[in-house]
Amino acid sequence: MQLYRLIYYSEAADNLTLQDVKSIAAKASVKNESLLVSGGLLYCESKFLQILEGGIAPVNKLFASILRDPRHKNVSLIEFTRIKKREFEGWDMSLVFFPTSRDFYPEYIKYSGDDSFDPLSLDGDVCVAFLRGLLERQKR
Ligand code: FAD
Repeated sequence: MQLYRLIYYSEAADNLTLQDVKSIAAKASVKNESLLVSGGLLYCESKFLQILEGGIAPVNKLFASILRDPRHKNVSLIEFTRIKKREFEGWDMSLVFFPTSRDFYPEYIKYSGDDSFDPLSLDGDVCVAFLRGLLERQKR
């Protein structure tokens, strides 16, 4: 199977609660596993950064439903590219939550060199390394 990676950034709808986000991630995890899609979802200060990796059809289909989802807005595609291997093997859609971006500055600065959290200024490889770093940290 040819593998693809899709990365986007979005902003939560005004009325979205943390409980809603947890519920999105829990359902996503089940569906993504069945589609052989791996990845991660960062939620911080009402912003999302999500990485999806898998076959071209499931990744496109998922992104199409995600784009239509009223629970977030201003969805911006950061990257869609073919990849040689998965970086999120075994992670169906783990959620990483931080109330404020200050909580992950030490991790973020390693990759960005800038302390203001702006996912749109990061390239795809940096997003992957950053989100993976956060997931590894959460696992410990
Ligand atoms: P349904 O669950 O029947 O949804 C029908 C429609 O209603 C969809 O358009 C959906 O967007 C909307 N909807 C569903 N529940 C609610 C609700 N509680 N409030 C308001 N609208 C609702 N899904 C995945 O499977 N994998 C992911 O990785 C994934 N990541 C997501 C990341 C973000 C930031 C967001 C906001 C959503 C994500 N979702 C993900 C959910 C995704 O957008 C779809 O809701 C999901 O794929 C199911 O859609 P469906 O059309 O198959 O079914």
